[in-house]
Amino acid sequence: MKECTKYNLACRIMRLVTFIDLPIKKKFRLFSIGVLFWFLVMAVLTVVGMTGISLRYDKIVNHAVPQDKVVQKVIRNLQAMNIDSSNMLKASDRGTVGRLQDLSTKRLRDVRDFSSTLALGGEVNDYSHDSGKLLETLTTTTLTGNPEGVAYLKELNVLLDEIDSAYSDFFLYKLQVLDKDAPNGENLNGRFEALEERLHQASQLSVTFSSKLSELYHTSSSKISEIIEVTILTIIGVFLLAVLLLGVFTRWIVQSLAKPIQAIINQIHDVGTGDVDLTNKIEITSRDEIGTLSQEFNGLMDTVYSMSMFKRVIEEDATLEDVYARIGEVFRRELDLDDFVIYEINDNQRDIVPVYPLALSTKEMACNSDILANCDLCRAKKTGHEISSLAYPQVCKQFKEETGKNHVCMPMIIGGRTGGVVQFLFDTGDDLKLDPADIQGRIFKAETYIKQALSVLEAKRLMNTLRESALKDPLTGLYNRRFLQDHANHVISGVLRRKKTLGLIMCDLDYFKQVNDQYGHDVGDLVLKETAVMINKGVRDADIVIRFGGEEFFILLVDICPGDSMLVAEKIRKIFEEAKVKIPTGSITKTLSLGVSEFPGDGEGFWQCIKYADVALYKAKDTGRNKSVRFEESMWSGEEF
Ligand code: GH3
Ligand code: MG
Ligand code: MG
Repeated sequence: MKECTKYNLACRIMRLVTFIDLPIKKKFRLFSIGVLFWFLVMAVLTVVGMTGISLRYDKIVNHAVPQDKVVQKVIRNLQAMNIDSSNMLKASDRGTVGRLQDLSTKRLRDVRDFSSTLALGGEVNDYSHDSGKLLETLTTTTLTGNPEGVAYLKELNVLLDEIDSAYSDFFLYKLQVLDKDAPNGENLNGRFEALEERLHQASQLSVTFSSKLSELYHTSSSKISEIIEVTILTIIGVFLLAVLLLGVFTRWIVQSLAKPIQAIINQIHDVGTGDVDLTNKIEITSRDEIGTLSQEFNGLMDTVYSMSMFKRVIEEDATLEDVYARIGEVFRRELDLDDFVIYEINDNQRDIVPVYPLALSTKEMACNSDILANCDLCRAKKTGHEISSLAYPQVCKQFKEETGKNHVCMPMIIGGRTGGVVQFLFDTGDDLKLDPADIQGRIFKAETYIKQALSVLEAKRLMNTLRESALKDPLTGLYNRRFLQDHANHVISGVLRRKKTLGLIMCDLDYFKQVNDQYGHDVGDLVLKETAVMINKGVRDADIVIRFGGEEFFILLVDICPGDSMLVAEKIRKIFEEAKVKIPTGSITKTLSLGVSEFPGDGEGFWQCIKYADVALYKAKDTGRNKSVRFEESMWSGEEF
């Protein structure tokens, strides 16, 4: 995964806002929250818009319109009063004047009612002044909240008082004129004009106020249209933005899930068809479940790759020891397991030997040395199951508890039987502080590696057995002449490099034919086996004893000092001379004749020196047997070798 550098803030912010590293569950939760958020934004915008509209609507419908309706009634009554007064001016009979006066009184009373309703708010009835029928009931709110309304009412009431007195003045004078009590009509006209003036003023005042209410009505109406327009446009804008963002986010989230999953599917498909480069990695783009899946898959591919490479490499390893070393290296490098021992169980299913690490002493072993000669004491070998002291403390009696370690012993089933045991050791202190699941995981992987190696181990062990049998004499277990031919150069170059001497002893049993003749071939074989044992007793571990022919043995004394070969030959001869070979009918004693030469002291050629040893052996036979003869040049009468 491409990590953001410590200082790349933009990258960090980008990863944060795209939720790339969040688990899928959280991603979808945030996605739902995002959808809800946009719905909420749209809902809030709608509510704000609707509230604005509603407030203004309330101003118009509940305030301005009914108030204006009442004001209109005031205007109409004032204008009607003006007409009635004008008619009264012209009227010539008392009846008409009386009727008109009645009408005007009612109109003035109604105007006062309307005015006080506008001041206090509430209901007011509008009656027909002709029939007295109720025309309508008006409901209005108070104008007290409106400073212009308050001023209007104040001015109107003053004018109404003036109209009241002007009207009384005019009406009373009119009666006087009709009764001829008044001096002249001019004063009546003057009184009418004064009344008309007041009525006009009041009417004009009301018209002005009415137009103000209309203005408010129109402003509010256009404000409502504006709010509706802005709200709709904002909601459309927010909706488009939400659609865009959610679209981009949906596409991104689908891409971020679908792409890596497709990559994994492709890789699995390629693995299935075998057409795959196991070192190809799936790019890890996130820290979510998909990232973990990709990581795990890459890990799996790594394991498959290292397993297949491991198997290929150990198949090419030359020897069994190389394979064990390779397993050891893999355990250490790949699994961080560095305390372990590989035991090999011999084909006889009795002996068990530590083969890795090389040359492990019995002291260094974490098991009792008793198991070495009796591998059935090893619980893993005997049961064929994994034996773990981590699961069951002190599970194996052969484990040295004093080591203070825990062990997991895993049998290696080769060719249907336990061919070996791998023992993993863990310090009770440091190692076990680790997660037990982690240890178990590493052991499991180690087991997988071992299983991969089993077929190779089996093949290599079989090859070793075949090679051994081709190079060894089955009767005595000694190397045969072929071994000498195969390994001579190796032995010679070592001795020459170390500037040492190689002692060559050729031995032959004296009168061996008699044994066969007297006791039979089986006893003869017994004597040959014992001879091999006795010769081995007389030489060092590094020396090589070979069954050269029927009852003829050849000994290579490695890295001796010149002249020492005769001492060894004599030692062997004496051991043999003194030994009693047990046979079914009792025991017999036999003697050996030995011919001795040294390389490179006696000759430049190794095979030439073997011939000299043979010549010396003939000399021993010729001169009485049961003796060792050192080769001398005088014995060789043949041509240059
Ligand atoms: P010499 O002292 O001259 O060596 O006398 P010899 O009898 O030991 O020598 P000879 O070469 O006459 O006889 C060797 C005998 O060893 C002949 C053969 O039957 C016997 N022999 C060779 N290989 C084996 C074997 O594997 N088992 C047995 N039982 N006898 C063998
Ligand atoms: Mg012989
Ligand atoms: Mg012989």
